[in-house]
Amino acid sequence: MLELIDVVKEYRVGGQVVRALDRVGLRIESGEFTAIVGPSGSGKSTLLHLLGALDCPDSGSIRFRGEEIADLDDDRQSEFRRHRVGFVFQFFNLLPTLSAWENVAVPKLLDGTGLRRAKPRALELLDLVGLADRAHHRPSELSGGQMQRVAVARALIMDPPLILADEPTGNLDSATGAAILELLGDIAAQGNSVVMVTHDMSAVEYCDRVITLRDGRIGAQERTGRERAAG
Ligand code: ADP
Ligand code: ADP
Repeated sequence: MLELIDVVKEYRVGGQVVRALDRVGLRIESGEFTAIVGPSGSGKSTLLHLLGALDCPDSGSIRFRGEEIADLDDDRQSEFRRHRVGFVFQFFNLLPTLSAWENVAVPKLLDGTGLRRAKPRALELLDLVGLADRAHHRPSELSGGQMQRVAVARALIMDPPLILADEPTGNLDSATGAAILELLGDIAAQGNSVVMVTHDMSAVEYCDRVITLRDGRIGAQERTGRERAAG
């Protein structure tokens, strides 16, 4: 579904050039839950941003279903982000004045669909993430784990084939985090690709595949127990 070939990304800071990604090659298939791990500064966020077309590589190729993302103009990249990618963040990024279901519906609003038309699907997704009875609560009335479930539902409302999660359990206790990881695994098992950046090594056991970055290069790539168990 997503293929990176020889991807290089550099940042220029003052007179210095920092090579954040150094000839990275990677394939991400449908139905896979992939973890990207590695020390701070190893290029994880940079990689996630490139996968989500939030930024472009300096050289190399990033293809989504065969189409080169870097070649799309700004409007097409923005459309790619809105329709093909769902983002989940460490700090949830919910809008405090909106209810849970309205937060889930926000991407539809940005796409020109009225709230009322988006509501049935938003409620369905809240049900899917186990929050049917919290649809009318504001974020301040929800626990961290519940807020992250709302954020996962929001990431799903455009039916994107690719979900990108940046430290989704970083602000949750371990039991709550485990439930979110199970949810992300279920979403992948339904045929989506879920790619997660994490510092949390215990999160890795919920994934099909672990990619380790070190100094902008891909080191070990491991298949994990979850995938073997799934056959
Ligand atoms: P990680 O997410 O693994 O901590 P990053 O992708 O954030 O790693 O960073 C990789 C390297 O690129 C680091 O050396 C970092 O300092 C540098 N870097 C990241 N973003 C920027 C930026 N916007 N400007 C300059 N340097 C950056
Ligand atoms: P537009 O170009 O239509 O203003 P954007 O391209 O900024 O819209 O946003 C499209 C999607 O990308 C949004 O759903 C948003 O969540 C996501 N997005 C935009 N900027 C960032 C960012 N810096 N980090 C993570 N996700 C982002």
